[in-house]
Amino acid sequence: MKRLGVLEWILIGFALGIIAGAIVGPPIGVIKPLGTLFVSLLKMLIVPLIFSVLVVGVSSFTGEKLGRMFGKTFFFYYFTGLCAICIGLIVAVVSGVGMGMELGELKKMVVKEAPPFKDVLLNIVPKNPIKALAEGKVLQIIFFAIVFGVSIGAAGRAADSVKAFFEGVAEVMYKLVGYVLWYGPIGVFALMAWTVGTYGLSVLKPFAYLIILVYISTAIMVFFVYGGLLRVFGIRPYRFFNKIKEAPIFAFSTCSSSATLPVTMRVVKATGVSDATCSFVLPLGSTINMDGTAIYQALAAVFLANAFGIQLGFGHYVLIGVTALFASIGTAGVPGAGLIMLGMVLGAIGVPIEGIAIIAGVDRIMDMPRTAVNIVDDSTAAVLIAKTEGEPLPDDLLTAKARS
Ligand code: ASP
Repeated sequence: MKRLGVLEWILIGFALGIIAGAIVGPPIGVIKPLGTLFVSLLKMLIVPLIFSVLVVGVSSFTGEKLGRMFGKTFFFYYFTGLCAICIGLIVAVVSGVGMGMELGELKKMVVKEAPPFKDVLLNIVPKNPIKALAEGKVLQIIFFAIVFGVSIGAAGRAADSVKAFFEGVAEVMYKLVGYVLWYGPIGVFALMAWTVGTYGLSVLKPFAYLIILVYISTAIMVFFVYGGLLRVFGIRPYRFFNKIKEAPIFAFSTCSSSATLPVTMRVVKATGVSDATCSFVLPLGSTINMDGTAIYQALAAVFLANAFGIQLGFGHYVLIGVTALFASIGTAGVPGAGLIMLGMVLGAIGVPIEGIAIIAGVDRIMDMPRTAVNIVDDSTAAVLIAKTEGEPLPDDLLTAKARS
Protein backbone atom coordinates (compact mmCIF):
# COMPACT_ATOMS: atom_id res chain seq x y z
CA MET A 1 0.00 0.00 0.00
CA LYS A 2 1.15 3.51 -0.81
CA ARG A 3 2.22 5.41 2.30
CA LEU A 4 -0.03 8.37 3.00
CA GLY A 5 1.49 11.82 2.57
CA VAL A 6 0.95 14.78 4.87
CA LEU A 7 -1.89 16.09 2.71
CA GLU A 8 -3.85 12.87 2.97
CA TRP A 9 -3.38 12.86 6.74
CA ILE A 10 -4.60 16.42 6.94
CA LEU A 11 -7.72 15.52 4.99
CA ILE A 12 -8.30 12.61 7.32
CA GLY A 13 -7.84 14.91 10.34
CA PHE A 14 -10.31 17.36 8.80
CA ALA A 15 -13.00 14.71 8.23
CA LEU A 16 -12.50 13.01 11.60
CA GLY A 17 -12.63 16.40 13.31
CA ILE A 18 -16.05 17.13 11.83
CA ILE A 19 -17.33 13.70 12.87
CA ALA A 20 -15.90 13.95 16.39
CA GLY A 21 -17.33 17.45 16.86
CA ALA A 22 -20.77 16.34 15.69
CA ILE A 23 -20.80 13.31 18.00
CA VAL A 24 -19.26 14.79 21.15
CA GLY A 25 -20.70 18.33 20.96
CA PRO A 26 -19.44 21.24 23.15
CA PRO A 27 -17.26 19.13 25.53
CA ILE A 28 -14.90 18.52 22.61
CA GLY A 29 -13.75 22.08 23.32
CA VAL A 30 -11.13 20.58 25.68
CA ILE A 31 -8.98 19.70 22.69
CA LYS A 32 -9.00 23.24 21.30
CA PRO A 33 -5.49 23.93 22.70
CA LEU A 34 -4.14 21.32 20.26
CA GLY A 35 -5.51 23.48 17.46
CA THR A 36 -4.27 26.68 19.04
CA LEU A 37 -0.79 25.16 19.25
CA PHE A 38 -0.91 24.46 15.53
CA VAL A 39 -1.92 28.04 14.73
CA SER A 40 0.90 29.30 16.98
CA LEU A 41 3.39 27.08 15.15
CA LEU A 42 2.27 28.48 11.82
CA LYS A 43 2.40 32.03 13.13
CA MET A 44 5.91 31.45 14.40
CA LEU A 45 7.00 30.98 10.79
CA ILE A 46 5.37 34.06 9.32
CA VAL A 47 7.73 36.93 10.15
CA PRO A 48 11.03 35.27 9.18
CA LEU A 49 9.41 33.64 6.17
CA ILE A 50 7.77 36.75 4.73
CA PHE A 51 10.79 38.90 5.37
CA SER A 52 13.38 36.57 3.90
CA VAL A 53 11.44 35.47 0.83
CA LEU A 54 10.30 38.97 0.00
CA VAL A 55 13.77 40.43 0.31
CA VAL A 56 15.16 37.68 -1.92
CA GLY A 57 12.31 37.93 -4.43
CA VAL A 58 12.33 41.70 -4.77
CA SER A 59 16.11 41.99 -4.91
CA SER A 60 16.08 39.79 -8.01
CA PHE A 61 13.69 42.06 -9.93
CA THR A 62 15.02 44.84 -12.06
CA GLY A 63 13.28 48.19 -11.73
CA GLU A 64 11.15 47.60 -14.82
CA LYS A 65 10.01 44.14 -13.80
CA LEU A 66 9.20 45.30 -10.30
CA GLY A 67 6.94 48.04 -11.66
CA ARG A 68 5.21 45.57 -13.96
CA MET A 69 4.66 43.09 -11.12
CA PHE A 70 3.13 45.81 -8.97
CA GLY A 71 0.84 46.88 -11.80
CA LYS A 72 -0.37 43.37 -12.58
CA THR A 73 -0.75 42.36 -8.97
CA PHE A 74 -2.84 45.36 -8.05
CA PHE A 75 -4.90 45.13 -11.22
CA PHE A 76 -5.75 41.52 -10.36
CA TYR A 77 -6.53 42.36 -6.73
CA TYR A 78 -8.96 45.13 -7.62
CA PHE A 79 -10.55 43.47 -10.60
CA THR A 80 -11.44 40.33 -8.66
CA GLY A 81 -12.29 42.42 -5.59
CA LEU A 82 -14.94 44.23 -7.62
CA CYS A 83 -16.30 40.94 -8.95
CA ALA A 84 -16.50 39.67 -5.36
CA ILE A 85 -18.49 42.67 -4.20
CA CYS A 86 -20.86 42.45 -7.17
CA ILE A 87 -21.50 38.78 -6.43
CA GLY A 88 -22.10 39.52 -2.73
CA LEU A 89 -24.48 42.39 -3.49
CA ILE A 90 -26.41 40.61 -6.24
CA VAL A 91 -26.91 37.50 -4.11
CA ALA A 92 -27.94 39.65 -1.13
CA VAL A 93 -30.43 41.75 -3.10
CA VAL A 94 -31.97 38.88 -5.03
CA SER A 95 -32.37 36.73 -1.91
CA GLY A 96 -33.66 39.50 0.35
CA VAL A 97 -31.51 38.05 3.14
CA GLY A 98 -32.31 39.33 6.64
CA MET A 99 -35.81 40.62 5.80
CA GLY A 100 -38.36 40.06 8.55
CA MET A 101 -35.73 38.96 11.04
CA GLU A 102 -36.54 39.30 14.76
CA LEU A 103 -33.68 41.15 16.39
CA GLY A 104 -35.14 41.44 19.86
CA GLU A 105 -34.22 37.96 21.01
CA LEU A 106 -30.62 38.18 20.00
CA LYS A 107 -28.16 39.01 22.70
CA LYS A 108 -25.68 41.80 22.22
CA MET A 109 -22.03 41.96 23.10
CA VAL A 110 -19.31 44.54 23.25
CA VAL A 111 -17.93 45.41 19.86
CA LYS A 112 -14.41 46.47 19.03
CA GLU A 113 -14.25 49.38 16.59
CA ALA A 114 -12.51 49.13 13.24
CA PRO A 115 -9.56 51.51 12.77
CA PRO A 116 -10.17 54.34 10.26
CA PHE A 117 -8.90 53.49 6.77
CA LYS A 118 -6.60 56.56 6.78
CA ASP A 119 -4.75 55.08 9.77
CA VAL A 120 -4.46 51.71 8.07
CA LEU A 121 -2.73 53.42 5.13
CA LEU A 122 -0.47 55.66 7.21
CA ASN A 123 0.60 52.76 9.38
CA ILE A 124 2.13 50.91 6.46
CA VAL A 125 5.43 52.75 6.94
CA PRO A 126 7.13 51.41 10.08
CA LYS A 127 8.78 54.03 12.25
CA ASN A 128 10.96 51.29 13.59
CA PRO A 129 11.35 48.22 11.35
CA ILE A 130 12.75 46.07 14.16
CA LYS A 131 9.70 46.82 16.27
CA ALA A 132 7.46 45.97 13.30
CA LEU A 133 9.24 42.62 12.98
CA ALA A 134 8.99 41.96 16.70
CA GLU A 135 5.29 42.78 16.78
CA GLY A 136 4.51 40.91 13.57
CA LYS A 137 2.96 43.91 11.79
CA VAL A 138 2.63 42.26 8.41
CA LEU A 139 1.97 45.26 6.16
CA GLN A 140 4.85 47.18 7.75
CA ILE A 141 7.14 44.19 7.34
CA ILE A 142 6.16 43.87 3.69
CA PHE A 143 6.84 47.55 3.10
CA PHE A 144 10.26 47.39 4.71
CA ALA A 145 11.15 44.11 2.98
CA ILE A 146 10.28 45.60 -0.41
CA VAL A 147 12.38 48.74 0.03
CA PHE A 148 15.19 46.70 1.59
CA GLY A 149 15.10 44.21 -1.30
CA VAL A 150 15.05 46.94 -3.94
CA SER A 151 18.06 48.55 -2.28
CA ILE A 152 19.96 45.24 -2.24
CA GLY A 153 19.33 44.98 -5.98
CA ALA A 154 20.51 48.58 -6.47
CA ALA A 155 23.66 48.06 -4.36
CA GLY A 156 24.78 45.30 -6.76
CA ARG A 157 27.91 43.26 -5.96
CA ALA A 158 28.55 44.96 -2.66
CA ALA A 159 25.34 43.43 -1.27
CA ASP A 160 25.83 39.90 -2.62
CA SER A 161 26.57 38.47 0.80
CA VAL A 162 23.44 40.05 2.29
CA LYS A 163 21.35 38.51 -0.48
CA ALA A 164 22.98 35.12 -0.01
CA PHE A 165 22.24 35.32 3.71
CA PHE A 166 18.55 35.91 3.13
CA GLU A 167 18.44 33.18 0.50
CA GLY A 168 19.76 30.80 3.14
CA VAL A 169 17.22 32.00 5.71
CA ALA A 170 14.39 31.50 3.18
CA GLU A 171 15.50 27.92 2.48
CA VAL A 172 15.67 27.16 6.19
CA MET A 173 12.20 28.60 6.68
CA TYR A 174 10.75 26.45 3.90
CA LYS A 175 12.24 23.38 5.58
CA LEU A 176 10.69 24.42 8.85
CA VAL A 177 7.31 24.82 7.16
CA GLY A 178 7.60 21.18 6.07
CA TYR A 179 8.21 20.06 9.65
CA VAL A 180 5.35 22.11 11.10
CA LEU A 181 2.99 20.66 8.52
CA TRP A 182 3.45 17.23 10.03
CA TYR A 183 1.59 18.50 13.06
CA GLY A 184 -1.18 19.69 10.69
CA PRO A 185 -3.42 16.61 10.86
CA ILE A 186 -3.75 16.88 14.66
CA GLY A 187 -4.12 20.66 14.58
CA VAL A 188 -6.76 20.56 11.87
CA PHE A 189 -8.60 17.74 13.65
CA ALA A 190 -8.76 19.77 16.87
CA LEU A 191 -9.86 22.98 15.16
CA MET A 192 -12.62 21.32 13.15
CA ALA A 193 -13.85 19.25 16.11
CA TRP A 194 -14.01 22.37 18.26
CA THR A 195 -15.84 24.39 15.60
CA VAL A 196 -18.42 21.73 14.83
CA GLY A 197 -18.79 20.77 18.50
CA THR A 198 -19.29 24.37 19.64
CA TYR A 199 -21.74 25.51 17.00
CA GLY A 200 -24.44 22.90 17.19
CA LEU A 201 -26.97 23.16 14.41
CA SER A 202 -29.51 24.99 16.57
CA VAL A 203 -27.30 28.11 17.04
CA LEU A 204 -27.15 28.43 13.30
CA LYS A 205 -30.88 28.43 12.68
CA PRO A 206 -31.72 32.15 12.65
CA PHE A 207 -28.69 32.74 10.49
CA ALA A 208 -28.94 29.66 8.33
CA TYR A 209 -29.99 31.63 5.27
CA LEU A 210 -27.12 34.11 5.56
CA ILE A 211 -24.63 31.31 6.16
CA ILE A 212 -25.85 29.32 3.16
CA LEU A 213 -25.66 32.43 0.97
CA VAL A 214 -22.07 33.09 2.09
CA TYR A 215 -21.14 29.54 1.06
CA ILE A 216 -22.98 29.84 -2.27
CA SER A 217 -21.43 33.22 -3.13
CA THR A 218 -17.92 32.11 -2.24
CA ALA A 219 -18.39 28.98 -4.39
CA ILE A 220 -19.54 31.16 -7.32
CA MET A 221 -16.44 33.27 -6.87
CA VAL A 222 -14.10 30.30 -6.95
CA PHE A 223 -15.64 28.33 -9.78
CA PHE A 224 -16.83 31.12 -12.05
CA VAL A 225 -14.51 34.06 -11.47
CA TYR A 226 -11.19 32.37 -10.64
CA GLY A 227 -12.05 29.30 -12.72
CA GLY A 228 -12.98 31.52 -15.68
CA LEU A 229 -9.88 33.69 -15.36
CA LEU A 230 -7.59 30.67 -15.14
CA ARG A 231 -9.14 29.17 -18.25
CA VAL A 232 -8.86 32.46 -20.18
CA PHE A 233 -5.14 32.47 -19.42
CA GLY A 234 -4.68 28.85 -20.49
CA ILE A 235 -4.55 27.18 -17.07
CA ARG A 236 -6.74 24.18 -16.23
CA PRO A 237 -8.78 25.38 -13.24
CA TYR A 238 -9.59 22.05 -11.64
CA ARG A 239 -6.05 20.79 -12.01
CA PHE A 240 -4.82 23.98 -10.38
CA PHE A 241 -7.35 23.90 -7.53
CA ASN A 242 -6.48 20.28 -6.94
CA LYS A 243 -2.78 21.04 -6.69
CA ILE A 244 -3.24 23.82 -4.17
CA LYS A 245 -6.12 22.35 -2.13
CA GLU A 246 -3.99 21.88 0.96
CA ALA A 247 -3.87 25.67 1.43
CA PRO A 248 -7.64 26.39 1.38
CA ILE A 249 -8.16 23.39 3.69
CA PHE A 250 -5.74 24.94 6.16
CA ALA A 251 -7.42 28.29 5.74
CA PHE A 252 -10.84 26.75 6.29
CA SER A 253 -9.73 25.19 9.56
CA THR A 254 -7.54 27.99 10.92
CA CYS A 255 -9.61 30.96 9.63
CA SER A 256 -6.36 32.86 9.19
CA SER A 257 -4.79 33.88 5.89
CA SER A 258 -1.63 34.90 7.70
CA ALA A 259 -1.24 31.59 9.52
CA THR A 260 -1.89 29.78 6.23
CA LEU A 261 0.75 31.77 4.35
CA PRO A 262 3.58 29.27 4.84
CA VAL A 263 1.35 26.54 3.42
CA THR A 264 0.19 28.73 0.53
CA MET A 265 3.80 29.54 -0.38
CA ARG A 266 4.68 25.89 -0.38
CA VAL A 267 1.80 24.61 -2.52
CA VAL A 268 1.87 27.43 -5.05
CA LYS A 269 5.63 27.03 -5.46
CA ALA A 270 5.05 23.33 -6.07
CA THR A 271 2.75 24.14 -9.03
CA GLY A 272 5.75 25.64 -10.81
CA VAL A 273 5.35 29.34 -9.98
CA SER A 274 8.77 30.93 -9.41
CA ASP A 275 10.07 31.80 -5.96
CA ALA A 276 10.26 35.44 -6.94
CA THR A 277 6.61 35.65 -7.98
CA CYS A 278 5.38 33.65 -4.97
CA SER A 279 7.34 35.78 -2.60
CA PHE A 280 5.99 38.98 -4.07
CA VAL A 281 2.34 38.12 -4.68
CA LEU A 282 1.47 35.81 -1.78
CA PRO A 283 2.54 37.72 1.36
CA LEU A 284 1.05 40.93 -0.01
CA GLY A 285 -2.12 39.10 -1.00
CA SER A 286 -2.48 37.47 2.40
CA THR A 287 -2.99 40.88 3.96
CA ILE A 288 -4.58 43.11 1.32
CA ASN A 289 -6.29 40.80 -1.16
CA MET A 290 -9.37 39.33 0.46
CA ASP A 291 -12.20 38.65 -1.95
CA GLY A 292 -13.86 36.18 0.40
CA THR A 293 -13.98 38.88 3.06
CA ALA A 294 -15.36 41.43 0.58
CA ILE A 295 -18.19 39.06 -0.45
CA TYR A 296 -19.01 38.44 3.18
CA GLN A 297 -19.02 42.12 4.08
CA ALA A 298 -21.34 42.99 1.20
CA LEU A 299 -23.74 40.19 2.14
CA ALA A 300 -23.61 40.86 5.87
CA ALA A 301 -24.18 44.61 5.40
CA VAL A 302 -27.34 44.03 3.35
CA PHE A 303 -28.46 41.32 5.79
CA LEU A 304 -28.15 43.68 8.75
CA ALA A 305 -29.73 46.62 6.93
CA ASN A 306 -32.72 44.41 6.11
CA ALA A 307 -32.83 43.03 9.64
CA PHE A 308 -32.92 46.58 11.07
CA GLY A 309 -35.54 47.54 8.48
CA ILE A 310 -33.29 50.10 6.77
CA GLN A 311 -34.22 50.73 3.16
CA LEU A 312 -31.22 50.64 0.86
CA GLY A 313 -31.05 52.59 -2.40
CA PHE A 314 -28.60 52.50 -5.28
CA GLY A 315 -26.30 55.00 -3.54
CA HIS A 316 -26.11 52.71 -0.51
CA TYR A 317 -25.04 49.80 -2.66
CA VAL A 318 -22.26 51.88 -4.20
CA LEU A 319 -21.17 52.88 -0.70
CA ILE A 320 -21.21 49.26 0.45
CA GLY A 321 -19.10 48.34 -2.59
CA VAL A 322 -16.47 51.01 -2.03
CA THR A 323 -16.21 50.57 1.73
CA ALA A 324 -16.22 46.76 1.54
CA LEU A 325 -13.34 46.94 -0.91
CA PHE A 326 -11.34 49.17 1.43
CA ALA A 327 -12.41 47.25 4.50
CA SER A 328 -11.22 44.00 2.96
CA ILE A 329 -7.86 45.60 2.16
CA GLY A 330 -7.50 46.77 5.75
CA THR A 331 -8.60 43.44 7.22
CA ALA A 332 -5.83 41.52 8.95
CA GLY A 333 -5.44 37.86 8.02
CA VAL A 334 -6.59 36.62 11.42
CA PRO A 335 -9.83 34.97 12.57
CA GLY A 336 -12.76 37.33 12.82
CA ALA A 337 -10.94 40.38 11.48
CA GLY A 338 -13.44 40.75 8.64
CA LEU A 339 -16.24 40.99 11.18
CA ILE A 340 -14.59 43.90 12.97
CA MET A 341 -13.90 45.68 9.68
CA LEU A 342 -17.56 45.26 8.78
CA GLY A 343 -18.04 48.20 11.15
CA MET A 344 -16.61 50.47 8.46
CA VAL A 345 -19.23 49.32 5.94
CA LEU A 346 -22.10 49.53 8.42
CA GLY A 347 -21.01 53.00 9.51
CA ALA A 348 -21.03 54.21 5.91
CA ILE A 349 -24.64 53.15 5.28
CA GLY A 350 -26.03 54.09 8.68
CA VAL A 351 -26.63 50.59 10.07
CA PRO A 352 -26.04 50.39 13.85
CA ILE A 353 -22.62 48.97 14.67
CA GLU A 354 -24.37 46.65 17.15
CA GLY A 355 -25.16 44.62 14.05
CA ILE A 356 -21.69 43.18 14.38
CA ALA A 357 -22.57 41.73 17.76
CA ILE A 358 -25.65 40.10 16.29
CA ILE A 359 -23.71 38.00 13.85
CA ALA A 360 -20.57 37.60 15.95
CA GLY A 361 -21.82 34.36 17.48
CA VAL A 362 -21.82 32.55 14.17
CA ASP A 363 -19.00 34.44 12.47
CA ARG A 364 -16.59 31.54 12.67
CA ILE A 365 -18.81 29.42 10.40
CA MET A 366 -18.68 32.16 7.77
CA ASP A 367 -15.02 32.94 8.41
CA MET A 368 -14.09 29.45 7.22
CA PRO A 369 -15.25 29.74 3.59
CA ARG A 370 -14.21 33.37 3.25
CA THR A 371 -10.67 32.67 4.45
CA ALA A 372 -10.45 29.68 2.09
CA VAL A 373 -11.51 31.95 -0.77
CA ASN A 374 -8.97 34.58 0.28
CA ILE A 375 -6.31 31.93 -0.16
CA VAL A 376 -7.56 30.64 -3.52
CA ASP A 377 -7.64 34.30 -4.55
CA ASP A 378 -3.95 34.85 -3.75
CA SER A 379 -2.90 31.55 -5.29
CA THR A 380 -4.79 32.32 -8.50
CA ALA A 381 -3.15 35.75 -8.64
CA ALA A 382 0.29 34.17 -8.30
CA VAL A 383 -0.17 31.60 -11.06
CA LEU A 384 -1.75 34.10 -13.46
CA ILE A 385 1.02 36.59 -12.92
CA ALA A 386 3.60 33.82 -13.41
CA LYS A 387 1.87 32.83 -16.65
CA THR A 388 1.74 36.37 -18.02
CA GLU A 389 5.41 36.84 -17.07
CA GLY A 390 6.21 33.86 -19.30
CA GLU A 391 7.33 31.56 -16.48
CA PRO A 392 7.47 27.93 -17.59
CA LEU A 393 4.55 26.09 -15.97
CA PRO A 394 4.24 22.30 -16.17
CA ASP A 395 2.34 20.98 -19.18
CA ASP A 396 -0.29 19.21 -17.11
CA LEU A 397 -1.41 22.57 -15.71
CA LEU A 398 -1.97 24.11 -19.13
CA THR A 399 -4.99 23.80 -21.41
CA ALA A 400 -4.45 22.07 -24.74
CA LYS A 401 -4.57 25.46 -26.47
CA ALA A 402 -1.93 26.97 -24.20
CA ARG A 403 0.37 23.99 -24.77
CA SER A 404 0.26 24.16 -28.55
N1 ASP B 1 -10.17 35.40 8.64
C1 ASP B 1 -9.98 36.07 7.40
C2 ASP B 1 -8.58 35.80 6.86
O1 ASP B 1 -7.69 35.54 7.62
C3 ASP B 1 -10.20 37.53 7.47
C4 ASP B 1 -11.63 37.78 7.79
O2 ASP B 1 -11.99 37.69 8.94
O3 ASP B 1 -12.39 38.03 6.85
O4 ASP B 1 -8.37 35.85 5.67
